Amino acid sequence: MTELVFATGNAHKVEEVQAILGEEYSIKSLKEIGIFEDIVEDGSTMEENALIKARYVYRKTGMSVFSEDSGLEVIALNMEPGLYTARYAGPQRNNDDNIDLLLKNMKSIQERQARYRAVIAYIDGKGNEFTFEGIVNGQIALERIGNGGFGYDPIFIPFGHDKSFVQLPASLKNSISHRARAMARFLKHLDQ
Ligand code: IMP
Repeated sequence: MTELVFATGNAHKVEEVQAILGEEYSIKSLKEIGIFEDIVEDGSTMEENALIKARYVYRKTGMSVFSEDSGLEVIALNMEPGLYTARYAGPQRNNDDNIDLLLKNMKSIQERQARYRAVIAYIDGKGNEFTFEGIVNGQIALERIGNGGFGYDPIFIPFGHDKSFVQLPASLKNSISHRARAMARFLKHLDQ
């Protein structure tokens, strides 16, 4: 079994990435390697933010590490919320507030095309840096279809499906999602 350090504090991401990786790989979380502090993500792109997290861990531990930064980009909103996806409605707000604000901002907008984008940054044991991108296209529903799940999942309908990400089986989401696509590229790199 191969162990990989995943620089994230987000339990949803850990769960999805472990499911995508399968049993051949085991993820070590930041807490498991003794990193408890928040890593400040002040980059101006998802690529930068992913690298900031991976570099922080690499410099502190010398371990090879990967991280992930992701967000929702709505075409009619000039690719917002983008970098601000997690805190769209404000730093202290939750998923429900974020979804409410996005639905409000899109109330009179008919063009609902959007995409989730994920960037994985990987630093190998020698300090070489790599990034891998994954995208899933879809549209923003007019209202919540289902509840719970991760982030904006109740209002994101991937192309080719008539259900939101929260309604689709986890195994299906984990085969078509932005995170799954970025992970597939990352794993191909590891296999080379
Ligand atoms: P960050 O990458 O930790 O800055 O946060 C990304 C944010 O994007 C998450 O907090 C979610 O709100 C949203 N997001 C990313 N991936 C997904 C997903 O697969 N489903 C729903 N929301 C997501």
